Amino acid sequence: MKIHEYQAKEIFREVGIPVPREKVASSAKEAMAIAQGLGLPVVIKAQVLVGGRGKAGGVKKVERLEDVEVIAGEILGMSIKGLKVRKVLVSECADIEKEFYLGFIVDRANQCPVLMASAAGGIEIEQVAKETPKKILKVQIDPGAGLLGFQARNIGMELLGNIKQALAFTGIAQKLYRVFLEQDCSLIEINPLVRLNDGSLLALDAKVNFDDNGLFRHRDNEGLRDVDSEEPKEVEAKQAGLSYIKLEGNVGCVVNGAGLAMATMDLIKRYGGEPANFLDVGGSSSPEKMKTAMSIILSDPNVKAILVNIFGGITRCDDIANGLLQVAKEIDIKVPVIARLTGTHSGKALEILAGTRVLPVKTMAGGVKKAVELAGGEK
Ligand code: GDP
Ligand code: MN
Repeated sequence: MKIHEYQAKEIFREVGIPVPREKVASSAKEAMAIAQGLGLPVVIKAQVLVGGRGKAGGVKKVERLEDVEVIAGEILGMSIKGLKVRKVLVSECADIEKEFYLGFIVDRANQCPVLMASAAGGIEIEQVAKETPKKILKVQIDPGAGLLGFQARNIGMELLGNIKQALAFTGIAQKLYRVFLEQDCSLIEINPLVRLNDGSLLALDAKVNFDDNGLFRHRDNEGLRDVDSEEPKEVEAKQAGLSYIKLEGNVGCVVNGAGLAMATMDLIKRYGGEPANFLDVGGSSSPEKMKTAMSIILSDPNVKAILVNIFGGITRCDDIANGLLQVAKEIDIKVPVIARLTGTHSGKALEILAGTRVLPVKTMAGGVKKAVELAGGEK
């Protein structure tokens, strides 16, 4: 679960990580009043649950009070990466001397949390990792011992070059790690963590992602959820009991079981294609669920073919087939649909689908190959 920058900064404020004076606004008028209180210049920032807002024009420095309302209004009218901006954060403008990166993630391969830091701050860390991985400093953290002072100080010295700043960095890193641990985060980052002209450090941006599997331990955090700002299709799927994650490819997949869904995606890649989504219809299925699944996938214009891959156990293949028929009646499906249905009532399913546009296939590999081919071949 993701939360907005302004919510993450509130957590930072509570634990004593230095953040700018700032307030969130839902209207241009409100933004104006906040700017008046803070004094100019201010920075107005779109509050959406994606990164790269700066590049998309969602972060603007404003020098004059009379411009605040117009610019806040413009940002409030924007959509960034498909997400509508409903709130803006109005911050006092910091005099940046240099931008850094600081974050924590879970290193699954090494089964421990990792501190990541870089002097290449302000740029998305995924890009730094791809282009200049050497610029990212990493420290593995023993989960039992926690982040030790010397580990953070070493990184601080390397990045900032003097002990006073390294100690300030250590304080921030330890507080950030405590939040990461106590709140069951999957990721926490400050990008940029900035050094001001007087040498002090300030968290200018904040990203806090909670691990959904840990949310039951933090009922309060549920209250931070902003359903209106989440990927609308993912919300719709969740409400229908489906696990759906949108991806960038063109082969849509409807699969039962997370393991089979992962295997299906792997195989799509193996045959040179790109999956358009991860979708697990779950253990039991109904024609209704199938309809929601198909309509969510079909709403993605990138999808050029759909592969339905069902291993029927509790899930009945005839339910899936009936669901497909119903969908075809209600939605004009313009892309080929390939179905591999095996297991419970698969014979019945084939009878139901005979004479329809749905293309039955016998094996998973055969289905994947066909779907990749019909979606336009290897990428
Ligand atoms: P993101 O693009 O979504 O990561 O949004 P950020 O909050 O990280 O802002 C993007 C960039 O805007 C930062 O890397 C800074 O270069 C710049 N920026 C943000 N706030 C300030 C500020 O208070 N003062 C100055 N000078 N630049 C800022
Ligand atoms: Mn940022």
